[in-house]
Amino acid sequence: MKSGINNINWNFDNSYSKLPESFKEHIKPIKVKRPELVLLNEGLAKELDLNFSHVGKEELSALFAGNVLPENSNTIAQAYAGHQFGNFTMLGDGRAILIGEHLSKDKIRHDIQFKGSGKTAFSRNGDGRAALGPMLREYIISESMHNLNIPTTRSLAVVKTGENIIREVNLEGAILTRVASSHIRVGTFQYIAARNKIDELKILFDYVVKRHFPKLDESKNKPIEFLKIVLQKQIDLVVNWMRVGFIHGVMNTDNMSIAGETIDYGPCAFMDIYDPKTVFSSIDQMGRYAYCNQPIITKWNLSRLAESLIPLIDDEQNKAIELATKIINSFEKKYEDKWLEMMRQKIGLFGEEEKDKFLILDLLTWMHKKKVDYTNTFGHLMNVENIKDKVYDDIELKEWKKRWERRLLVNSSLEKSMKLMKSVNPLIIPRNHKVEESLQEANQNNFKPLNNLIKVLEKPYNNQNDIQEYQYPKNSKEKYQTFCGT
Ligand code: AMP
Ligand code: MG
Repeated sequence: MKSGINNINWNFDNSYSKLPESFKEHIKPIKVKRPELVLLNEGLAKELDLNFSHVGKEELSALFAGNVLPENSNTIAQAYAGHQFGNFTMLGDGRAILIGEHLSKDKIRHDIQFKGSGKTAFSRNGDGRAALGPMLREYIISESMHNLNIPTTRSLAVVKTGENIIREVNLEGAILTRVASSHIRVGTFQYIAARNKIDELKILFDYVVKRHFPKLDESKNKPIEFLKIVLQKQIDLVVNWMRVGFIHGVMNTDNMSIAGETIDYGPCAFMDIYDPKTVFSSIDQMGRYAYCNQPIITKWNLSRLAESLIPLIDDEQNKAIELATKIINSFEKKYEDKWLEMMRQKIGLFGEEEKDKFLILDLLTWMHKKKVDYTNTFGHLMNVENIKDKVYDDIELKEWKKRWERRLLVNSSLEKSMKLMKSVNPLIIPRNHKVEESLQEANQNNFKPLNNLIKVLEKPYNNQNDIQEYQYPKNSKEKYQTFCGT
């Protein structure tokens, strides 16, 4: 019988590592001094058909630190490029190592990746390491996104490395185990396209189709159909972000997954007061990635994907550009339709009426003018008991509600509408001050607030007992700032 870390049900089938050498570097994680497991996601482990129950903490710590590698893993760092704030750069996994692709029982393929496990060929000036705070932050927020029913990479475990890393101050080092449908990005296509080797571009494209979109195999113009599907997936994703007030913060093309999952939890945060121009990231001086810019940046990024595909679309370049442009230009209409559908659900409308758009925009305008909390306003419309604020007595809102109620009853009953609203309006989001507080405590080795926060975020649509402290933003004029996850 296999022992310890090889008796977990790992079922590796590593395909990316077989691609041409230029796609990646074969490299092992660098061992760390004193690994200590601080978080393990039992629910996710179950979904992956992994069983950690008979493995001791010491062995798990060594496993999730990369100090011992499971049988049949094949460790690589992946190459990619990306437009960062609009500027093209060659990048790659500078501090991440793919351990392998694990197949769960249903034959679904999952990348298992360590983030923070040492330098690679793509580290540039970085140390290849990650700090505890940002890795825990990624764990909290990515798992919260999953529970909000938004496609995302997942977090399986966090270990402390027992080593300090040097940033502005000394910080505790950590490694996050990230699980993704794949780590193929828009930037992966950009990287291969920039190498100007059509055979490599074909290999990448065929690989991605086989892995993510096998049905495309029958299409006439596969790259065009592929672009259409990725565009729709990204629209669905960004509409979901808008729904819950999520601001990604660093929508560079290397941080856009081809599989349509939210990826790269660096400076992201949730909006409290409704303001379309909200930006949290300290490095986003121009507001490029502000809440309201997320859809247009999605389109911009998709245009970069389209450019990379041009040589595959048609031998005649002009024709290829024309075909791709047509798809890219379908973005606005498709986005608006999807956004309207989502907003209708947020206020419980069934059916479609011309005037719905104005009803929705009038509510948002009121929210902006009165500087009210985005999440809680929908909670108020659902009559959630513990959401109280004098601002909801405002006459303008009362007038709006009369119009709204008239419209509700057109195709629905109050009961039916409330049910719909409850399925799309979260009562709990990761409030910035609660996230910060839990990270501060975790840095002092107290993981209780962090575990409590993770627990309440598991059921964001349910009215749980004693959750009021998680439901309100911090009552402070201080502007919340986030930093890239280093
Ligand atoms: P991000 O802002 O997380 O998307 O990272 C952009 C690029 O910087 C990616 O290629 C990362 O792998 C790389 N990177 C970020 N932090 C580090 C680090 N501490 N050491 C090496 N590379 C890093
Ligand atoms: Mg990134």
